[in-house]
Amino acid sequence: MTNVQHIFFDLDHTLWDFEKNSNETLSELFDEFRLEERIDNKDKFLATYQTVNGIYWKKYRDGVIDKKTVRSGRFTDTLRRFRLHDAEDLGKRIGDLYIQRGPTKTNLFPHVHETLQYLSDKYPLHIITNGFKEVQFIKLGGSNLEKYFDIVLCSEEVGVNKPHRKVFETAMKMASVDPANSVMIGDNLEADIIGADKVGMNTILFDPKSEYDGNHFTVINSLLELTKIL
Ligand SMILES: [Mg+2]
Repeated sequence: MTNVQHIFFDLDHTLWDFEKNSNETLSELFDEFRLEERIDNKDKFLATYQTVNGIYWKKYRDGVIDKKTVRSGRFTDTLRRFRLHDAEDLGKRIGDLYIQRGPTKTNLFPHVHETLQYLSDKYPLHIITNGFKEVQFIKLGGSNLEKYFDIVLCSEEVGVNKPHRKVFETAMKMASVDPANSVMIGDNLEADIIGADKVGMNTILFDPKSEYDGNHFTVINSLLELTKIL
């Protein structure tokens, strides 16, 4: 990839292993709230939460619901699917603890530090994330990632979420770089890749589970591949 001067990364599911960290937190909360006495299967609980959470995040990205609704609603909804009579109250309590504890987890994707070390010697690196500001900085600090990045832009500061063009344009303006000299790296085809492509940025789709074979964007399955491309 030529002409690249600045690199923009997504954080969740790209550097910070959201799924692993989330499951670790949920598993702890499942035990602490003795949910095994009320829900027959922890794996089923985790899988249901992932499905419900995905639906809530899609609505949040589309601007249909606010973050407060995401935080408690996804748990209330999950517990309702298991017909718990106190789903509303319990969902709120679990939701609050999840938000406090989740971001302190530190599981990263393989090769994050060596890749970022290599790239930060050559380019300024930045983050563009749809995550909430107060939690994203806890994740970055806890995982010792803060040192690699100049700009950390959380979409809520812009008022719209990726894939809205204003998010990418704001980040590039802050970095004083043109789209043609920028590359966006992220795991979400719609939010990261198509969004960035529309404003003229270069793009690299991070696809650790090989789910996106055969699309026309540049795809990597391991972050270490970036050291060959960039
Ligand atoms: Mg992501």
